[in-house]
Amino acid sequence: MPEAFIWEHAPAFLARVDNLNLHGLHFQHVELCERRAWMYLHKVNFAQWYTRVQTGAALHDASYQRDHSVRGLFGLAPDRIEWDECIVYENKGTGGAVEASSNQTAFYALMLSISTGKQWRAFTHVLSSRRRREVVLDAARLQTLWDASVRLAQLGEQDAVPAAKKIGLCSSCSLAAFCGFD
Ligand code: SF4
Repeated sequence: MPEAFIWEHAPAFLARVDNLNLHGLHFQHVELCERRAWMYLHKVNFAQWYTRVQTGAALHDASYQRDHSVRGLFGLAPDRIEWDECIVYENKGTGGAVEASSNQTAFYALMLSISTGKQWRAFTHVLSSRRRREVVLDAARLQTLWDASVRLAQLGEQDAVPAAKKIGLCSSCSLAAFCGFD
């Protein structure tokens, strides 16, 4: 039986998520690259003309379908939910960018914990290795998500595109041409 979920910042976190219409990907992006997060927040999207992303999206759509357990979850998009056990899963193609993908997965668990009042568990399911990795929703992770939400709010209000330096992700980022890192 899952424990009750109690977090003093829950109301403020929920309000911020609601006001900014934040999703799991915001929490992944802000960990990886603030410029990418800013672009996502401000709805600047180059994916339509970036062929690599188009191909990737098609492969992604073809490789797996979201589980029926997540139907009707407006604003949340995890890949599978075990409602009875209070466990949420997020699928990832590879096991890279651990912190960023863990934050995305933890965000789903946190939102479900706040909504249901029960402590949810979260797992990242790595498709390439067929392994699952637990993301523990402990005090440190809650603080990370809180800090990320504060930073996302700041980026949402910021007009200027944040400075960025070239990182490993740039080679597969749809914004690489904009940043000059292609
Ligand atoms: S290309 Fe690199 S620096 Fe630019 S948004 Fe993407 S990840 Fe960030």
